[in-house]
Amino acid sequence: MVLAQLGGSISRAIQQMSNATIIDEKVLNECLNEITRALLQSDVQFKLVRDMQTNIKKIVNLDDLAAGHNKRKIIQQAIFNELCKILDPGKPSFTPKKGKTSVVMFVGLQGSGKTTTCTKYAYYHQKKGWKPALVCADTFRAGAFDQLKQNATKAKIPFYGSYMESDPVKIAVEGVERFKKENCDLIIVDTSGRHKQEAALFEEMRQVSEATKPDLVIFVMDSSIGQAAFDQAQAFKQSVAVGAVIVTKMDGHAKGGGALSAVAATKSPVIFIGTGEHMDEFEVFDVKPFVSRLLGMGDWSGFMDKIHEVVPMDQQPELLQKLSEGNFTLRIMYDQFQNILKMGPIGQVFSMLPGSSAELMPKGREKESQAKIKRYMTMMDSMTNEELDSSNPKLMNESRMMRIARGSGRHIREVMEMLEEYKRLAKIWSKMKGLKIPKKGEMSALSRNMNA
Ligand code: GDP
Repeated sequence: MVLAQLGGSISRAIQQMSNATIIDEKVLNECLNEITRALLQSDVQFKLVRDMQTNIKKIVNLDDLAAGHNKRKIIQQAIFNELCKILDPGKPSFTPKKGKTSVVMFVGLQGSGKTTTCTKYAYYHQKKGWKPALVCADTFRAGAFDQLKQNATKAKIPFYGSYMESDPVKIAVEGVERFKKENCDLIIVDTSGRHKQEAALFEEMRQVSEATKPDLVIFVMDSSIGQAAFDQAQAFKQSVAVGAVIVTKMDGHAKGGGALSAVAATKSPVIFIGTGEHMDEFEVFDVKPFVSRLLGMGDWSGFMDKIHEVVPMDQQPELLQKLSEGNFTLRIMYDQFQNILKMGPIGQVFSMLPGSSAELMPKGREKESQAKIKRYMTMMDSMTNEELDSSNPKLMNESRMMRIARGSGRHIREVMEMLEEYKRLAKIWSKMKGLKIPKKGEMSALSRNMNA
């Protein structure tokens, strides 16, 4: 994920500042200059970056900070708050509710990722127990219906469309009616895009919107346009009642930060971001956890959300209980590796943990990472129950490691590497000790606790 580079540059700048024995004006300026450079490279508007720098300097008055104050923490918090301000787009005009029929219409330019995003949005909700359905009212682009049909079939989501009918309004109305009768609670209407903003596109959008009366209009845009997103989001907002935005291709472009901040500046709420071509490369966008993750402070609410998503339902209570106890054993690691291999995208889960930066499952190298996990599991298969259930790192002495290496046909160096990975995860895990297991809706409270 390219955003990880931006996050990496920012957290490195903060880290370097923290390493300084004394944090004075010069050290603070160096840190802020680094952050400014990183944000400008991400195509964040110059004015936003300059204001951010001024604000931080205003808040962090080094002379006023009494001795004993944790300057680093105060500066990090100021950077966090300012980034949240830049990226906070406000709340969507409407939030669909499970079990209550909502019609959601998708609009955007051709190639923005609109059709892909419709399916991702449907799939995301389906996994949470909703009954979504897809309507293809894109009669402009040849192949749009086939694409939607293919994606929908793969995800087992009902769909509606036509090869013959050329009137998008007719298809949209028929599709919405049909799925209302079938008691679907999330009816998603994919509309036509055009290569550029033009009158015909906006007119068609208005007609489909008038005929289907959507509860929410979602505007999909490609992040690669960076700060030009401001004009595009404004133009769509003026033509149709855009209630929320989804920014796609955050994985592939250095300008993602610029796009997000530009959309936020139009006060159009970003609700999800697309982070890849696959169906599950799709994430809720929530500004505080997002910035927290960007700064390497972890995204606890996203982490919990992913646990709910990827860990089988019957294993969740036990896993959450173990989380709150803070004892991470090799057996827990083994069980979670099994989930990783079954569910695939847990690299996303690891990237949400503070300091983890998805090292175990780097994007684009999933095959390699899976092989590594399988290797680790083979070694763990040669462990005794005592070793698997212990959370005492001292237990694993050299003779035990030798035995495991021999038993699994691996080198002792690899056993040590696996144990290092275990220690790294255990350290992260231990931070969750004593946590109250949050119920749904309490996630942000958890996030606050963890970042405190
Ligand atoms: P539409 O014309 O707006 O309906 O766009 P499509 O849904 O056909 O998407 C255009 C291209 O963008 C396709 O190749 C998609 O696979 C790709 N795409 C969509 N979303 C993402 C994303 O979040 N990341 C990446 N890397 N590619 C995406």
